[in-house]
Amino acid sequence: MAETTRFAPSPTGLLHLGHAHSALFAAAAAGGPGGRFLLRVEDIDRPRCRPEFEAAILEDLAWLGLAWEAPVRRQSEHAADHAAALARLEAEGLLYPCFCTRREIAEEIARSAGAPHGPEGPLYPGTCRRLAGSERAERLAAGVSAALRLDVSAAQARSGPLTWQDAAQGEIRAAPETLGDVVLARRDIGTSYHLAVTVDDALQGITLVTRGQDLFHATHVHRLLQALLGLPVPRWHHHGLLADESGRRLAKRHDALSLRVLREAGHAPEAVRRMAGFA
Ligand code: GLU
Repeated sequence: MAETTRFAPSPTGLLHLGHAHSALFAAAAAGGPGGRFLLRVEDIDRPRCRPEFEAAILEDLAWLGLAWEAPVRRQSEHAADHAAALARLEAEGLLYPCFCTRREIAEEIARSAGAPHGPEGPLYPGTCRRLAGSERAERLAAGVSAALRLDVSAAQARSGPLTWQDAAQGEIRAAPETLGDVVLARRDIGTSYHLAVTVDDALQGITLVTRGQDLFHATHVHRLLQALLGLPVPRWHHHGLLADESGRRLAKRHDALSLRVLREAGHAPEAVRRMAGFA
């Protein structure tokens, strides 16, 4: 079946074999005639992104033999789309400002016995959700900077029960509460991974979102955001992650397995595609 898929790397380092697997997976999932494979540069985290990594990503993907449909969507150029989505959620009363520093959150979690944990660690304890309105207003008026968090139980009350379809695992009950009140706008960049990825997948007309199993839990949040924002609902395919010889997941620190190093060591694109699990 022809699908619109995308590969969405962040230009915070060089691509490694795990990224090659993900990119080749997305391109193959677009299917035959009529399928579209798009590329999106996820560069909202400005301090961590570098133009030279973006250039290297495009070059390495082309070297691997991938061809994507132009134009490349650069996420940082679409801040207005992200802000509009945020404003809609805010107008519905589903967001609250969070003034907590990382340290305050860690201290609060350490204080409360039995603090709830999700798949990615302890959940935000909800300190700022419980702030009195007057206290909140005072801090905002004093110019204290704040992130914006999703009030996940209010949001679920609004959306009702949701499900989503994973090509490998079938129908999944959306459980966004497992990630708690996630940040939708960081105080430094005014948006977040969850918000930007959801809005951009919709605006790019993605019908099948492919990505690694490590992001499976994020999909619960994205499904909820789609319902709240009235966005079309794609299907998902979370693929397995490549591991190194010792069974550890490949990550950016494995520079030895970056496509750049493999290429400079004389490996041909076909050989690297094979290493990434694609003949
Ligand atoms: N930009 C994300 C990453 O580099 C992937 C985005 C997604 O597929 O949801 O891990």
